[in-house]
Amino acid sequence: MLGKTKPEVLVVGAGPVGLMAALTLAKQDIPVAVVDREWRTGAHSYALALHPRSLMLLAELGLLEEVLDTAYRVRRVGIYDARTRRAEVRLAAPGDAALPLAVMRQDVLERMLEDALRRAGVDVLWNHAVSRLVPQADGAVATVDTLVKESVGYAVARTEWVVARSQDVHVPFVIGADGHRSLVRRSLDIDFPEVGPAQHFAVFEFATDLDLSDELRLIVGEETTDVLWPLPDGHCRWSFQLVDEAVPPSTRTKDRIPVDIGGARYPRLDLGWLRELMSQRAPWFSGKVERIFWRIMVRFERRLATAFGRDRVWLAGDAGHLTGPAGMQSMNVGLREAKQLAEMVAGVVRHGEPVAQLREFDAQRLAEWRSLLGVDGPWTCDKQADPWLGALADRLIPCLPASGTDLRAAAKQLGLQPHDPSSP
Ligand SMILES: Cc1cc2nc3c(=O)[nH]c(=O)nc-3n(C[C@H](O)[C@H](O)[C@H](O)COP(=O)(O)OP(=O)(O)OC[C@H]3O[C@@H](n4cnc5c(N)ncnc54)[C@H](O)[C@@H]3O)c2cc1C
Repeated sequence: MLGKTKPEVLVVGAGPVGLMAALTLAKQDIPVAVVDREWRTGAHSYALALHPRSLMLLAELGLLEEVLDTAYRVRRVGIYDARTRRAEVRLAAPGDAALPLAVMRQDVLERMLEDALRRAGVDVLWNHAVSRLVPQADGAVATVDTLVKESVGYAVARTEWVVARSQDVHVPFVIGADGHRSLVRRSLDIDFPEVGPAQHFAVFEFATDLDLSDELRLIVGEETTDVLWPLPDGHCRWSFQLVDEAVPPSTRTKDRIPVDIGGARYPRLDLGWLRELMSQRAPWFSGKVERIFWRIMVRFERRLATAFGRDRVWLAGDAGHLTGPAGMQSMNVGLREAKQLAEMVAGVVRHGEPVAQLREFDAQRLAEWRSLLGVDGPWTCDKQADPWLGALADRLIPCLPASGTDLRAAAKQLGLQPHDPSSP
């Protein structure tokens, strides 16, 4: 027993992807339990944009209006070198009423999904960590530890999380949405190899007086790709790619405390360095820096699981793939795979469809990510396309805020197309 009912599906991880999977199941009246070892949702903006395709999924769950009320709408990607604007990708036709790219902090999205899940009758079980998972023919046995805070230390008192209770729960299905260090993936013995070099970024969010209009700006230098995002409330985010500093892997861990502790943790990320980076990489940026409210250095690895699960235990989101930050592809494709997986699992639980059909999920996920990460071969360039863009294809594709057919349509505007795996 976990929570109020005996679940048919255990979702491990209450990040955006786990919440999306749980909400999809709850809306279909499938008994679901969601556990997370942390004490609350994330506290910062992280993957801060929802692709139009993600908005369509949220519309099906009745959340579109709420998102659009909060979000900043972006409709174009401007591609710059250090001095000039070289190309544009329209995410929707001019004057088109089509869904925009919705810029919204990830913590706001997570709270919205958690509230919707609660309204659907499911409370996230925070402070519940899965410490062991044993896949079986009819499901899996999960060891779930309930964590509590306890005072420890003598000379200097402090608190730490300890295991108050441990229980073994048998569940017919598990969805592992437990992030890049996924225990679910490890319990299946699935490898998570690197498929490209890691990238390192310095990220600053601040208030500015500059009107950034409806444009996301990519600034492509010889070795770096920097990104300028407009945010709601007159804020913006600059992400500067670093080539001469390696950031440790631990930086890709979500913080649960909303204050900016970056100033102390990363003393180098000060106003002076921000100004230096802006003047070197985007001298055209004339906006004031009115108040830095979040700063961080992050390492983004590029990894792809060798499978997305098997039988009755499956993966979605960062548990299965990692990519660079600019196109927000990890979270957005993760939302799509959470929905697809939850619907397929609901088909088995509710309508007795064969478990074997989930192999199709595995095949589709691997194919999409191999293309997104350029594993099968680089994207190619039309003869008429700007050769500057053609030479940058493998850097630009992960930066476009789209996936699937939308990504193909966006890339086509630059004269780029996916590698055809059937050609040599
Ligand atoms: C500092 C930072 C900046 C980022 N910036 C960007 C960006 O600019 N662009 C971008 O696209 N992406 C960015 N990301 C990545 C983005 O946040 C992730 O892609 C997104 O959160 C993935 O969602 P998810 O639900 O798959 O995994 P997560 O959000 O990682 O959620 C996984 C959840 O599982 C829980 N969990 C893990 N193990 C267990 C266990 N054993 N038992 C129970 N619970 C468990 C964790 O506590 C966590 O809540 C950033 C991330 C960080 C940390």
